[in-house]
Amino acid sequence: MDYSEIRHCLTECRFTDHARREMETELLGRIGVEEVLYVLNTGESIEEYPDDKPYPFQKEESIMQCVICKQGEVKPATIEAELKVGRDRLLVPVQAEVCVECGEAYYSTETMRYLERVREDFLRRVITPSSIGNVYQVV
Ligand SMILES: [Zn+2]
Repeated sequence: MDYSEIRHCLTECRFTDHARREMETELLGRIGVEEVLYVLNTGESIEEYPDDKPYPFQKEESIMQCVICKQGEVKPATIEAELKVGRDRLLVPVQAEVCVECGEAYYSTETMRYLERVREDFLRRVITPSSIGNVYQVV
């Protein structure tokens, strides 16, 4: 694949919820959206997966297909993204694109940045959202 095609796509980049959760729980430390964009913009390809499409690909002009299940159509929806912040969980309503088959969510770069701001605001106690329940650990 021509890597300049990847760079060109950065303007319309989407992050799957799976990728967002992996970034959030990376063992070496949380990975931020700006770090991902920097690497995509300056890095080089080290391995090709010719059968995989790099983002919700368009089967027809207006239909985006899910990269996770490769079956479902991806449509705009309001969902609650679940952020892990230490042992706490934040449910944050956001606009996303969601697969009608498997439910995988796709976030724009703007939404990813918004979720990072919510995380930072929560950590600094700029926002103090209400608790909606408890978490219990069964041992
Ligand atoms: Zn899907």
